[in-house]
Amino acid sequence: MRTPVIAGNWKLFKTIGEATGMVNELKPLVAGTSGVEIVVAPVFTALNRVAEALSGSNVSLAAQDCYWEEEGAFTGEVAPKLLVDAGCSHVIIGHSERRQYFGETDDTVNKKAKAAIAAGLTAIVCVGETLAEREADKTFTVIEAQLKGGLAGFTAAMLAQTIIAYEPVWAIGTGKTASDDQAQEVHAFIRNLLATMFGQSVADDIRILYGGSVKPDNVKGLMSQNDIDGALVGGASLKADSFAAIANFAV
Ligand code: PEP
Repeated sequence: MRTPVIAGNWKLFKTIGEATGMVNELKPLVAGTSGVEIVVAPVFTALNRVAEALSGSNVSLAAQDCYWEEEGAFTGEVAPKLLVDAGCSHVIIGHSERRQYFGETDDTVNKKAKAAIAAGLTAIVCVGETLAEREADKTFTVIEAQLKGGLAGFTAAMLAQTIIAYEPVWAIGTGKTASDDQAQEVHAFIRNLLATMFGQSVADDIRILYGGSVKPDNVKGLMSQNDIDGALVGGASLKADSFAAIANFAV
């Protein structure tokens, strides 16, 4: 019912040459993969060349962030319509590294996601608790606040252009994956919350990805959970063979 999404977040890695080289290696490894949406998110400077390299393939392109204004005196920012112009169909918004290092808040996530959707992009909205929040039993409170703030004012139509990524901060880049049950528990909570906010059919249709040290050897277990509809992958998305193995989780 929900097409799985496997998205690779390349963070601040890869030159243009390395990024195009990687997708040229990846394409044949996933050419036969059906029933899965595959997405890669290179740095801004590589987007357009990677878009050219991906042309005609079954791999889509995401940016790692955007701004909410269309244009103006906003030095250093990139507008959603420029991402579309560069060849993107998706954009990651509110990644925990942006929240931690660059002052991203639920309010800026909300503005960015709305602007991205208005420009025709699919917004991959990230939420997740820190280790201290989990240990203080605040996981559900934190996730609820992030979703209510990040998706404030959203309509059902906007949710159709939204993917949620649940990424426990303690599992990102640490090698510590949430167990299948721990992840499923939060995914089910997110889907129930979305049902109360937007109605059951919106909640049934939305894809909720898990992120946090996803690797070829743990993806199957995660993907076997009822409410896990894909993965947002950092480290293991940087090499074509490991990312392809994750995208081919069902094979
Ligand atoms: C991420 O950057 O979104 C991520 C989940 O990273 P990693 O897979 O390396 O934990």
